Amino acid sequence: MIVIDSVLAMQQFGREHKGQIALVPTMGYLHDGHASLMVEAKKRAPIVVASIFVNPTQFGVNEDLDSYPRDLERDKRIAAGAGVDVIFAPKASDMYPAGYQSWVNVEGLTDHLCGASRPGHFRGVTTVVAKLFNVVAPKVALFGKKDFQQLAVIRRMVTDLNMDLEVVGMPIVREADGLAMSSRNARLSVEERVKALCLSRSLAAARLLFESGETRVERLKAAALAVIEAEPAARIDYLEFRDQDSLEPLAAADKRTLLALAVRLGEVRLIDNCILGEA
Ligand code: AMP
Repeated sequence: MIVIDSVLAMQQFGREHKGQIALVPTMGYLHDGHASLMVEAKKRAPIVVASIFVNPTQFGVNEDLDSYPRDLERDKRIAAGAGVDVIFAPKASDMYPAGYQSWVNVEGLTDHLCGASRPGHFRGVTTVVAKLFNVVAPKVALFGKKDFQQLAVIRRMVTDLNMDLEVVGMPIVREADGLAMSSRNARLSVEERVKALCLSRSLAAARLLFESGETRVERLKAAALAVIEAEPAARIDYLEFRDQDSLEPLAAADKRTLLALAVRLGEVRLIDNCILGEA
């Protein structure tokens, strides 16, 4: 495995290996969720490039850019173990040099959910992902459904801007107790780590009620909210039932309905989601 930290060197590598690269974009502090994307990437292309870049432009002013966990040496070990061939770890000053002025913006889909609670977030995400696609020139890129809206927004961008690559969405990887894996879990205190289970339990409560035949969103939402509200330390950013394609609100749920939530525990904001009809 090699580590490339210069944008120009990465671009040259991408050019030389055109058609052979699967890209897994990450912000590092890798866990088994990231590793699952890397393992699948290796099945889809001979060369796996994992980018590790805590992208400053997708963080709001009062968000956790400075406290986001970072450990490149640890990441190298995990990436090598997951079959990564190249780590691309650019500096922010190389990705956004002085005079930088260009942005990619997906409209509509980004009005909802995390787009509403984190203004400017998706503009940063789509811009950096478009840049990574231009630099690495992958034939396929893999993203987790943990960030369901991000995946939808990136698919929209790739379609709308005629980007020549395949986008693959991968299932959410969870800890044994149900907590969705996230780099931000490392920032939870021991007490908060226990309380964080309210997210996956909330999804489970809604799904159970749906499986019993309830389709009224009002009722399903009440069941999901009750689980979070029983945890006084948890502050709800949003908890919404949405059409999984448009992300628009719904009155009645079906098997394809997305339940997405964002919850704060202390300083840490966690997200999770499920499709009601999927296990
Ligand atoms: P991040 O480093 O958090 O930006 O995530 C990088 C990629 O890994 C994104 O496509 C995420 O959706 C994906 N990812 C993060 N956590 C998980 C998880 N628990 N299961 C599956 N994919 C994940």
